[in-house]
Amino acid sequence: MARVTGSVCRFCRRAGTKLYLKGDRCMSDKCAVAKRSYPPGQHGRRYVKETEYSVRLREKQKAKQIYGVLEKQFRNYYAKAAREKGVTGDNLLRMLECRLDNVVYRLGLVPARREARQMVTHGLFAVNGRRVDVPSYLVRQGDEVSLTAAGQRVFVAKLEAGQAIEGEVAPWLELNTKDIKATVKSLPTREEIPIDIKEQLIVEFYSK
Ligand code: SF4
Repeated sequence: MARVTGSVCRFCRRAGTKLYLKGDRCMSDKCAVAKRSYPPGQHGRRYVKETEYSVRLREKQKAKQIYGVLEKQFRNYYAKAAREKGVTGDNLLRMLECRLDNVVYRLGLVPARREARQMVTHGLFAVNGRRVDVPSYLVRQGDEVSLTAAGQRVFVAKLEAGQAIEGEVAPWLELNTKDIKATVKSLPTREEIPIDIKEQLIVEFYSK
């Protein structure tokens, strides 16, 4: 399974904004954007003129990096979103939000999607009672996300230490914090996706 490797802070520096890829570190003064707010690389501080293409490319890269998706898979998401009814940009973001690793993150169980992805690949979660270790698994309305036996062992320890819930639960999900069982109440609308992405620019990038 292909995945993003290496330092991810360079993505934020390239995007010129925090993409919050590392959880707690992103809020601290160790954040690379806070320390070096210019693009990475030998010529990072050089002035580079923006073009229409570079603006659209950067928006697409931001979305890919936030969700931890590589180019080929992202392009497939776009193709699928374009085939569906409705606004392509909204369809694309909804699809990315419905990835199982993102759902675990949106449940507030972990501080970053990377961590959520690792937990999913380690088989800590089940969907509708069946263990799923594929981070790109897309949940549907009405699906139930729960812990496997291995997940329970990990989370019981966290619960006992008072750490299991790290953040807010997205409005389109419902979480029973006692046994960490979640239900997908509905698929997210654009308003329920708190992400600083101009999806229309991504659509324009691919539909050139
Ligand atoms: Fe981005 Fe977080 Fe690294 Fe800051 S610490 S540069 S927000 S990944």
